[in-house]
Amino acid sequence: MATYIVLLGPPGVGKGTQARLLSETQKLAHVSSGDLFRENLKNQTDLGKLAKSYMDKGELVPDDVTISMIRDRISRPDCEAGAILDGFPRTPAQADALEIMLKEFHGAVNVVPYITAAENILIERASGRWTCRAQGHIYHEKFNPPKQARVCDVDGSEVYQRDDDKVETVTKRIRVYFDQTIPLVEYYRKEGKLIEIDGTQAVEDVTKVLLASLKKK
Ligand code: ADP
Ligand code: ADP
Repeated sequence: MATYIVLLGPPGVGKGTQARLLSETQKLAHVSSGDLFRENLKNQTDLGKLAKSYMDKGELVPDDVTISMIRDRISRPDCEAGAILDGFPRTPAQADALEIMLKEFHGAVNVVPYITAAENILIERASGRWTCRAQGHIYHEKFNPPKQARVCDVDGSEVYQRDDDKVETVTKRIRVYFDQTIPLVEYYRKEGKLIEIDGTQAVEDVTKVLLASLKKK
């Protein structure tokens, strides 16, 4: 049975940072819906153009296109053992669709780490985020700057600020999260899969708590 770990939490809390680390230790693919949309945007696909109109406003891309993009991604061979899902699902309809598609792929959501932090921390983190152009490696201007200004430590590509990481758009995205994604907390709590993680700690400490709680599950 393939193992799926859903990382839940508001924008800027550290899901992408932890997902990359977890993907290495757990030997599972990292599937980030935001990265997939940005890849489509870079390649100027129809999906990328459609997604951009929502992303720029800090709104969610419609469920149908998001679900089919994820379905396509997890049907690839590198997800045979499962994946870390980062940024998906974000609505109850997406969570229902995930359950159905995982049955088909002989997998299940095993555990849902729910990472939290206060809104001022989320805004400070997301608005100071710098993202690598080539592969989406994540930096922070204050908390985790690249060794050389604006150059990715890993692949040498340009490091840029996402258009939707301006304070106003981040604030809107947090509002959208509370409106549309927060119901998933109860959804997964009822299934006994939720583990709450304090995301205010340093990256390494969040990782330690995450790994320890995954072991317990
Ligand atoms: P998310 O995927 O939840 O939006 P990211 O992992 O992209 O969050 O992190 C948002 C920003 O906060 C990035 O700039 C990242 O470097 C920084 N960050 C992530 N985790 C921490 C942490 N525990 N402490 C300080 N900064 C962090
Ligand atoms: P963050 O890391 O800060 O949470 P993401 O990179 O996950 O941000 O998402 C950026 C944008 O991509 C979102 O504001 C939204 O427009 C779109 N997006 C990402 N994932 C989803 C999803 N599961 N459903 C709908 N829209 C999504």
